[in-house]
Amino acid sequence: MELYLDTAATTNIDQEAKEEYFHLLNTYYGSTGSLHQFGQIPLSLETQARQKIAHLLKINAEEIFFNTGATEGNNYAIKGSALQYKNRGNTLITTKVEHPSVLECFKQLEKDFHFHVIYLDVNEKGIIDMQQLKQHLNNDVILISIMYVNHEVGSIMPLSEVRKAIQNFPKIILHSDITQAIGKVEIDFSILDIATMSAHKIHGIKGSGFLYKKNKVTLYPLINGHPAHNALRAGTANWPSNVVMATALKNTLSYFRTTEKDLKATQIALYKQLQEIPEVILNTSLDCSIPNILNFSLVHYNPEVIIRALSYKQIYVSSRSVCSATKKDSVSSTLYAMKKDMDICVSSIRLSYDTPLSADEIHYFISSLKEVIQTTRK
Ligand code: PMP
Repeated sequence: MELYLDTAATTNIDQEAKEEYFHLLNTYYGSTGSLHQFGQIPLSLETQARQKIAHLLKINAEEIFFNTGATEGNNYAIKGSALQYKNRGNTLITTKVEHPSVLECFKQLEKDFHFHVIYLDVNEKGIIDMQQLKQHLNNDVILISIMYVNHEVGSIMPLSEVRKAIQNFPKIILHSDITQAIGKVEIDFSILDIATMSAHKIHGIKGSGFLYKKNKVTLYPLINGHPAHNALRAGTANWPSNVVMATALKNTLSYFRTTEKDLKATQIALYKQLQEIPEVILNTSLDCSIPNILNFSLVHYNPEVIIRALSYKQIYVSSRSVCSATKKDSVSSTLYAMKKDMDICVSSIRLSYDTPLSADEIHYFISSLKEVIQTTRK
């Protein structure tokens, strides 16, 4: 039996999207920037894809900017808005549990551009403290960036409450990294000014994604060149990937709607059976997380060793943390912010899946894990 439990890292390509992609590569090779038909056909296919995505997500097509994925999107959203609106104020707010592609942007803005950055705490469930956010709101704040769903423990952030809290601060731009949320929860784009995602988390092609931006928001240009048809991102478009993103999104959204309950059942079953293993400490809270992620720690076990041992049994999981507790980078920043003991922060394992697991699969996982625990000591 093979169990791929790492869909939060990446997913396989949707079958329909894959066939469409091969067909596009075999049929057209033009650039969307060309005026002749070799360019105009790809351009019109890309435009149709943008419209399909807009329809699926209930947003406007002209608010979608294709790019290389969430790392680029986050860089653009954060640095692009901070630099564009620097004359409005100097304070930026984010959380301690963001993905490195967000956190590193803020660190750079702090260090090289002298912005004042506030990193919000999270509670033991991985959720931001709204009171703390409110305390920091003032007219100097120009950007707030809070992820929709955390990539390590799956906690869902209260973005609608954040929007309500900032309603008297119309100059604040609200960005959300929706990479782990899209296809897993209903996303209310009306409350966001900018959102960033990645196609390979929803069965699209790696190195593609899009940035959603309300028309009223301007971003300081970071990638200059001939703008062609994407004013935000100069360069020849990766249009075949953009076209099939619409197909992958359509199938991901409809599949999730029909399996949401079964995914929750999978999460609960895994949770209950993991709870019975004495060495396991569960880090995901079932009541406020997406059903697709379950994070736990095996204190006193090296997660790398566990991952490799499971991999021999064709079970594929991941961990944020690597061996040394003394190196700060090896610690799970999310668990650390959740104020977990250091032993827990350095020994976490993340299970992620977007199809429900059968009872046999759950049994195989749990029995394999027990075997690995018995044979593997730190
Ligand atoms: N944000 C989050 C929450 C993620 O999980 C990831 C992928 N690990 C990224 C951003 C970066 O996405 P990409 O791989 O498209 O650069």
